[in-house]
Amino acid sequence: MELPFIEPYKIKMVEPVYTSTRDQREKWISDARFNMFNLKSEQVTIDLLTDSGTGAMSDRQWSVLMLGDESYAGASSYYNLKNAVAEITGFKYFLPTHQGRAAENVLFSVLVREGDLVPGNSHFDTTKGHIEFRKAIPVDCTVDIASDFTKWDPFKGNVDLDKLEDVLKKNPREKIACIIVTITNNTAGGQPVSMANLRGIRGLADKYGVKFFLDSARFAENAWFIKTREEGYADKTIREIALEMFSYADGMTMSAKKDAIVNMGGFIGFRDDETFRNASTYNIIYEGFITYGGMSGRDMNALAQGLYEGTDYEFLSSRIGQTDYLGSKMKEYGIPVLEPFGGHAIFIDAKRFLPQIPDEEFPAQALCVEIYIEGGIRGTEIGTLMADRDPVTRENRFSGKELVRLAIPRRVYTDNHMDYVAAVVKNVFDRKDSIKKGLRIVSEAPILRHFTVEMERI
Ligand SMILES: *Cc1c(COP(=O)(O)O)cnc(C)c1O
Repeated sequence: MELPFIEPYKIKMVEPVYTSTRDQREKWISDARFNMFNLKSEQVTIDLLTDSGTGAMSDRQWSVLMLGDESYAGASSYYNLKNAVAEITGFKYFLPTHQGRAAENVLFSVLVREGDLVPGNSHFDTTKGHIEFRKAIPVDCTVDIASDFTKWDPFKGNVDLDKLEDVLKKNPREKIACIIVTITNNTAGGQPVSMANLRGIRGLADKYGVKFFLDSARFAENAWFIKTREEGYADKTIREIALEMFSYADGMTMSAKKDAIVNMGGFIGFRDDETFRNASTYNIIYEGFITYGGMSGRDMNALAQGLYEGTDYEFLSSRIGQTDYLGSKMKEYGIPVLEPFGGHAIFIDAKRFLPQIPDEEFPAQALCVEIYIEGGIRGTEIGTLMADRDPVTRENRFSGKELVRLAIPRRVYTDNHMDYVAAVVKNVFDRKDSIKKGLRIVSEAPILRHFTVEMERI
């Protein structure tokens, strides 16, 4: 008999999972103004709000915390991280930051000016926020097939090179701040970008003389998809693939809370020392001196170790395998999910799940609420709430995309937990016709409103 695949780790420390009654959850979600971010963690049974900073660190990571060097400048922990970044990404210059959006803030302070365009695939919400906050415009050039939630394609995160070239051709070079490509494409459903696509983007960046950066939070998952789906990469290691991916870019921003499996941290990688030097000034203003950038020495040590663990093929196979396990279960139950499954999350198509609820009533958010009430599972809305209002017209941006994202923390939950999640969603699916109305906004912030929005039932 062929032996089954196993997780390449075992568990040394556990924490409780909280249970509650439906009545309690009804009250809690109403007290939370129907905003998942307002729930207390003890009010949640399985927390799939995000895979960001929610992973379980290894014994190796915990042990290097004790070796953290807290010197203000030139700490050994900084050099440990610098060496790990250089080895895994190939970027010689780097700046630590406290998390991914801080990396964006520092980098965009150098590159992005009012009126600029920032083309790429789908920009992550904080990336979009930092661009629009500077009165610049993110241009989403993702391939059209990404918006077909059922068609199988190995690289639905790709940039449509014709769309990108069109933007580059029609605008003066000075108006293009840079190209930003997110790997994997979170907003499009955790879909990967192929090596061929990255090579093509590099070609266009060279042709039009613009810089090309990778938003790399899930670069290791992206490398795993390239290894398993793209011709010519099956025999290469994840680290060889990662090095090639980064070789096409001028730099990277990193939220280490994802694929580097730490609870907090980030960095920026640079190829050229000029951008690095300009960014260093902003790093000192916003983050901290360039050898710690908002992180303690112990955290830099854990991050350095996490970069190695996060790029381990066996680990990635079990992680992406668990996402696939959950997706397959839900599909078996007939629940409309985005396919192919992403690396870090399963996305439920709320428009197909609750077709009776119009986009104006935030169907994905309404579904998040129902799933929470049903079984204490916290997911997040990727839809009209997150899309924010148009910065100029202030109208809601209806993209027709209404997804509930169930993001899976790394090394935290077991497949039994996934069985529970699938069963809860199935129970909501069985009673879906009784859900007649969605939600309306009571108050919202001018930007990144989904984090703090207050809503009520219609
Ligand atoms: C999480 C994330 C960010 C922002 O990083 P934070 O660490 O949350 O600030 C940026 N881009 C992508 C693709 C992300 O997933």
